[in-house]
Amino acid sequence: MYFHGTSKINEKGHLEIGGVDTVDLAKKHGTPLYVYDVSLIRERARGFKRTFDKLGIKSQVAYASKAFSSIAMLSLVNEEGLSLDVVSGGELYTAIAANFPVDRIHFHGNNKSIEELELALDYNIGCIVVDNFYELELLQQLCIKKDKQIPILLRVTPGIEAHTHDYILTGQEDSKFGFDLQNGQVEEALRRSLESKYLNVLGIHCHIGSQIFDTTGFILAARKIIDKLAEWNNQFSYFPSVLNLGGGFGIRYTDEDEPLSPDSYVSEIIIEVQKRTRFHNLSMPEIWIEPGRSLVGEAGTTLYTIGSSKDVPNVRKYIAVDGGMSDNIRPALYEAKYEAILANRPTDEVKEKYSIAGKCCESGDMLIWDLPLPNVESNDILAVFCTGAYGYSMANNYNRIPRPPVVFVESGEDQLVIKRETYEDLIRLDLPLQSKINL
Ligand code: PLP
Repeated sequence: MYFHGTSKINEKGHLEIGGVDTVDLAKKHGTPLYVYDVSLIRERARGFKRTFDKLGIKSQVAYASKAFSSIAMLSLVNEEGLSLDVVSGGELYTAIAANFPVDRIHFHGNNKSIEELELALDYNIGCIVVDNFYELELLQQLCIKKDKQIPILLRVTPGIEAHTHDYILTGQEDSKFGFDLQNGQVEEALRRSLESKYLNVLGIHCHIGSQIFDTTGFILAARKIIDKLAEWNNQFSYFPSVLNLGGGFGIRYTDEDEPLSPDSYVSEIIIEVQKRTRFHNLSMPEIWIEPGRSLVGEAGTTLYTIGSSKDVPNVRKYIAVDGGMSDNIRPALYEAKYEAILANRPTDEVKEKYSIAGKCCESGDMLIWDLPLPNVESNDILAVFCTGAYGYSMANNYNRIPRPPVVFVESGEDQLVIKRETYEDLIRLDLPLQSKINL
């Protein structure tokens, strides 16, 4: 079993994270429970920043808060000196509530509403990543109305197919995101932006996909964009100060995954950007990246209590946990794979394979298939690793199941940072029926 960060087996023979016994955490906060290893998040954040510093490259490392957004999380991101990527009014509102420095917030999205763009302008955020012509026009009109200038990046789709699942692949030509780099769209967007006295084009953005294990896709995308920049330098006398290469750095969910270190991802990409800009006799732009999963994914563990079981003789054994696709939809959504152990007796001899079912009314609500475990009993605590990214942030109330709480653990202490939803929370927005039938 591969342990991330501070996870280890303690003297009681239990799984411990951040110096805190997970069996005690399950007792104190109940299950399901998301547990975040804060020092691992800090280590990852510092790792990315250190690599840029070592290479002497001006940069911003923007945490993609879609991976996991909460007030405490964004405060931690701010403590570590990172910037922030938001993709909705709700993520922006959370950042403001966390007192995140507005000049380090970047706003993404392929269909930002007028209200969202106005919010961004009113808060004077660092930049808006413009995705399409509709948004470009809308933003221009809102800037005129408010008589405000706004820094922007233009998002491009470089025509790169990263090797990952179809649903998390975004850099190919046939994508809902961004201006096409090949067919003249991006030149038109750049021309219109440069003509506007309200839009300050800081540079170009691309994001080629997620859970990517090598740098080939990033390198190809960077090359294509820099070749374009060389053309634009001649055509428009324009050279961007920022090149944002997005996120997507893979992590290790299971043995099958072999990610590079943050250091290797960043240095290999930077070296290529340096080579290519030098080749075209261009100056080196500031490099921004947007890691989400690679900052928080491995830092998160979900604790569940085992409940019922079902034996299908000669086929498989199912055991059910007190959560499922309501707190982790990734296996059902795109066949994501996870590893898990019994947190209360991780060293017991592994006896057979169990398939871990959730409690939602969907046959597809399976968290892990054929997981080797010791003989499992009801009330054992199952710890599923690497649930820190797109777990809580994609959690839902299917079957009106309340969302679990989140605790941060660090230096032997635990801190509740998101409370467990209650049944009252679930009906908080419901209104009674105004019946039209006289009974
Ligand atoms: N940037 C953009 C524009 C994205 O769409 C995403 C993910 O969807 C990310 C960054 C973060 O990706 P990851 O969590 O894989 O690093």
